[in-house]
Amino acid sequence: MTPGSDRAARDLLTFYAEAGVDCALGEVPVDRFADVPAEPVAPRAPAISAPKAAPRPAPMPAIQAPPPPEEAIMAARAAARQAGSLEELRAIMNGFEGCALRTTAKQLVFGDGAAQARLMFVGEAPGSEEDQQGIPFVGRSGQLLDKMLAAIGIARKEVYIANIVPWRPPGNRDPSTHESQICLPFIQRQIELVGPDVLVCLGKPSTATLLGVTDGIKKNRGRWFTYKSGERDIRAMPTFHPAFLLRSPIEKRFVWRDMLAIKKALAAN
Ligand code: URA
Repeated sequence: MTPGSDRAARDLLTFYAEAGVDCALGEVPVDRFADVPAEPVAPRAPAISAPKAAPRPAPMPAIQAPPPPEEAIMAARAAARQAGSLEELRAIMNGFEGCALRTTAKQLVFGDGAAQARLMFVGEAPGSEEDQQGIPFVGRSGQLLDKMLAAIGIARKEVYIANIVPWRPPGNRDPSTHESQICLPFIQRQIELVGPDVLVCLGKPSTATLLGVTDGIKKNRGRWFTYKSGERDIRAMPTFHPAFLLRSPIEKRFVWRDMLAIKKALAAN
């Protein structure tokens, strides 16, 4: 490596680290335990007979590709329907192989809080801290969420918290639309099983996926929507994601209004 390219490599690594990339992972897992064919050994003495062609290396064992998205969505729907309780749903999701994110994540980040909570929050996807602990919203965003709740006199253990996608996307990238659609039947069933009176979508991806509202979060935060959950209509409100508030603290004043409206809705129900 030349001195110039060394500096360029360092700068690139610093850029990645600042962007939140803390591990080197590809989109598709590599089975490094798979047998690699041995290098052909060169004969000790040159053979007098005609040179033989070197044996062709055996093909690497194929890595199981995830099923096509449409198939995975159908499989997720069928699997989610089987769950009669949150614990059953957790076990089903743990065994579900239709979403490739499970192969790069450390573990499933299922949900946290009171199983029969009246207030439920849904974020986008776990980050590094959540992936390590297997619990949603435990990093900096989660600490801010806890403070937002405390501000309206609600303890974290009284609510239920989950994500649209329950596996951490590599390097904290955004989940793709396909990944969100594959995981959607699971979060829908999770909401149905918790049965909250009020559902809060944290940020635009959660709002778009659960409420089908795709225009700006700035326009829609603080507004009430109806989320259809099985036979029930649940009051649902989008608000800013705590990660956004960490970057733009001035926007906290709007979330304060949203939290007060949520508290009022719970009291009226
Ligand atoms: N951001 C999310 O959307 N979910 C988490 O669990 C943590 C951060």
